[in-house]
Amino acid sequence: MPQPTGTHTETPPAQIEPVAADRTRLVDSHCHLDRLDLEPFDGALAEALADARQRGVEHLLCVNINLEGFEQVYGIARAHAGVSASVGVHPSETEGAEPQVDQLTRLAARPGVVAIGETGLDYHYNRGDLEWQRDRFRTHIRVARESGKPLIIHSRDAREDTLRILREEHAEQVGGVMHCFTEDWDMAQRAMDLGFFISLSGIVTFKRAHQVQEVAARVPLDRLLVETDAPYLTPVPYRGKPNRPGYVRYVAQQVAALRGLDLESLAEATTANFYYLFPGAASPPPTSPPEPLAT
Ligand SMILES: [Zn+2]
Ligand SMILES: [Zn+2]
Repeated sequence: MPQPTGTHTETPPAQIEPVAADRTRLVDSHCHLDRLDLEPFDGALAEALADARQRGVEHLLCVNINLEGFEQVYGIARAHAGVSASVGVHPSETEGAEPQVDQLTRLAARPGVVAIGETGLDYHYNRGDLEWQRDRFRTHIRVARESGKPLIIHSRDAREDTLRILREEHAEQVGGVMHCFTEDWDMAQRAMDLGFFISLSGIVTFKRAHQVQEVAARVPLDRLLVETDAPYLTPVPYRGKPNRPGYVRYVAQQVAALRGLDLESLAEATTANFYYLFPGAASPPPTSPPEPLAT
């Protein structure tokens, strides 16, 4: 860095401006904190969360993918401020227990569980007769309606069935998010018509992700979320390395650039959208009513 005129070699080196000094307020709307690579953080999840905070991430939604892992996910959310949890069984999970409506509804009622999922359909990873996936998906939508909590939808190579089942099961009554959205603008519109938000992951930073980038530019700002899906789908410039929640900043930066917005405005909007969609994740409401104004 060139020295400003009038200084000499005793000038202390310029401080690297701490990222936290700006006013960016981000949420990672979808990550798997129970699966992070903690090696860069001396094995401590608290360090990974501190890293995220330093990059402006104030809240994280830790997403459950099987019943066997629920208590760990839930424990993480209870142990750390600014972390909430979901409950659900991923469409590609074939080893664990099959979820039942009553059981999921009971778990969904716990404090700190703010969403149902991730659920949906994955015809890319799984092949053959996938009626069991569709049944499982319907179970989750029933739980969401029963518990009044929004859905986190995973949909891969299954757009028509995803939309059809959402309609048939009246998912519009609870809404939710199409997480890690990779489909086209047509699907985005149809999902939004059903009351769903569109969440973009690190894929939007990939050079050839033109379709997702188009969606990123066109989705109304009040329907947009950002996520990492960490430890998967690491955004550029760290693509190829394990992902971490703090990198949601790079996702947001790219989406902001595609929309001609500054990072702070994009962050503010997506963070407000997150608390609107998942009211359970907002700070608890005050326990007493506000003081009446003095007359
Ligand atoms: Zn997913
Ligand atoms: Zn996920």
